[in-house]
Amino acid sequence: MSISEKITKTTTPTYWEGEIPVNYIYTFGLAGEAFFRAIKDKGTFLATRCEECEVTFVPPKAYCDRCFEKLEKYVDVGTTGYVETYTVTFRNMDGSAKKLPRILAMVRIDGTDGGIIHYLQGIPFDEVAIGMPVQAILKPKAERVGGIEDIVGFGPPKR
Ligand SMILES: [Zn+2]
Repeated sequence: MSISEKITKTTTPTYWEGEIPVNYIYTFGLAGEAFFRAIKDKGTFLATRCEECEVTFVPPKAYCDRCFEKLEKYVDVGTTGYVETYTVTFRNMDGSAKKLPRILAMVRIDGTDGGIIHYLQGIPFDEVAIGMPVQAILKPKAERVGGIEDIVGFGPPKR
């Protein structure tokens, strides 16, 4: 690239290779931090609710995405839910066959309008069904770090 380079053909994309050093700190944000802290410390999920829109967000949001109201009240919604939808994967990312198929599900958390996408555990792929009740499987408390890895998956509800 020269300093006087001009784009003469707008239909031909151009690019430059290089590296840009970037220093950053990733944070979960206020709502995300509350969510993961509750999982780590209490083994439960938190939600925020917009009373105006009658929507309960899981994972919690700091602002309602419908009316932009600031949401500051967190409620414990527990770790149970049901399979809203799912897919079964038989292949690894490299195309090789999995030893066992895995089920990836969208789990709607009970009493909320939100959910978590995660793997189902302990449920045979030919027995999974939409509407099936499930419960989050969390790492043992001593092993939790306050991140998404604290959720191992979802399995049959504990009684
Ligand atoms: Zn709202």
